[in-house]
Amino acid sequence: MSLILKNASYIDYASGDITKGHLKVNENEQLPLEFFNESEMPSVSVHDVVVECEGKYVTRSFACGHHHAYSALSRGMGGPLKPPANFYETLKYLWWALDKSLGKDAIEASAYATAIACAKNGVTFIIDHHASPFASVGSLEVIADAFDKVGVSHLLCYEISDRDGEKALNDGFDATAQYLEKNQGLIGLHASFTVSESTLNRAVQMAEKYNSGIHVHTAEDIYDQTFTMQNYHKSVVERFHKAGALQFAKTILVHCLHLNDNERKIIAESPVYVAENIESNLNNNVGFFNGRGISKKVMLGTDGMHSNMLRSLKAAYIIGQTSEQLAMTEACERLNRTHEYIASNNFKGDAANNLVVLDYASPTPVTRDNYFGHLVFGIESADILHVIAKGKIIVRDRKLLTFDEEAVSKKLSDTAASLWYVYKKQKV
Ligand SMILES: [Zn+2]
Repeated sequence: MSLILKNASYIDYASGDITKGHLKVNENEQLPLEFFNESEMPSVSVHDVVVECEGKYVTRSFACGHHHAYSALSRGMGGPLKPPANFYETLKYLWWALDKSLGKDAIEASAYATAIACAKNGVTFIIDHHASPFASVGSLEVIADAFDKVGVSHLLCYEISDRDGEKALNDGFDATAQYLEKNQGLIGLHASFTVSESTLNRAVQMAEKYNSGIHVHTAEDIYDQTFTMQNYHKSVVERFHKAGALQFAKTILVHCLHLNDNERKIIAESPVYVAENIESNLNNNVGFFNGRGISKKVMLGTDGMHSNMLRSLKAAYIIGQTSEQLAMTEACERLNRTHEYIASNNFKGDAANNLVVLDYASPTPVTRDNYFGHLVFGIESADILHVIAKGKIIVRDRKLLTFDEEAVSKKLSDTAASLWYVYKKQKV
């Protein structure tokens, strides 16, 4: 079965080149997109789906370089259990208190909420970083199943940490190993300041064993650096580098706000990628991202704040102008770099058969030379009419086809209420 997008204006996401004609999309991700002139309609079988795209733009769907599905039900939950005095206390009184409250139902509901939001925002590949220290073993399978049912692809990991004691630590390793036996994924670590030397070394060994990489928060707050320097007598990136975590092209260093010049040099000379989440950084008041020396490594994420990569792009550009004189083309390259990360590491689920159809009525011409300007200043998530994932339509006319959203929304809301109850009952 194929999908024919008739009379489409196809925009190459990297170059902005625009091709008008008919587009044949295959479910097999090994097959390229097939283009036909406006005068030569491809042969259509009864099994094929034809979608009229006259006046619409078609381009690659988006990939999120760093997400936290586990936080999806925190919206409206109320603030931290105690007013935090700093970033560490924000983690302790909010995010760690939330992740300790997660059981299987809440993990599953969070994954559905995230997958649905991503699908409707044209995000068809999610790199997620999951934490549920008292329900870790099997959690990644639950998330993967929900993402698969909605139809979005994924690269998951479990956030291993020493912060909740030995059992939770070992469960984190077990959850990871069990998942990596059968699935593409990464070895997640929380951050340098909650990861002991033996845990770090064990994670690197696991990455070697599974031909994977490390996905870790890196110098998000200055506390991560001061703690690491005091306890390990190295900076965060130097510590990770010395342990071997930066040898893997699959490794993702998230945030990278508080880096010295040597750390930037180490990252630049290693095969790793960096995930920027500028809205989260401003929300947590931890500083501004600056891609100096590492810009060609940077991809964009949401850090669980939302599931809208167009929003992440706009924020990265608008804020980056002040903080690092970021050019618009470079901001767009950061959005696109997640595709490069996934492809260069041979992960599945993000081939050319993942597309969005935009109903974008611009008052000005859209051309190869100004496409990135439209992406930053014009095109919004609301313009995403259809979403195609792995060659199949998963959102049509802005409606999710894979799920009855209204039916599931009551369940999500009930699960959120139960989660909030457990969260608020905790003593901190
Ligand atoms: Zn994060």
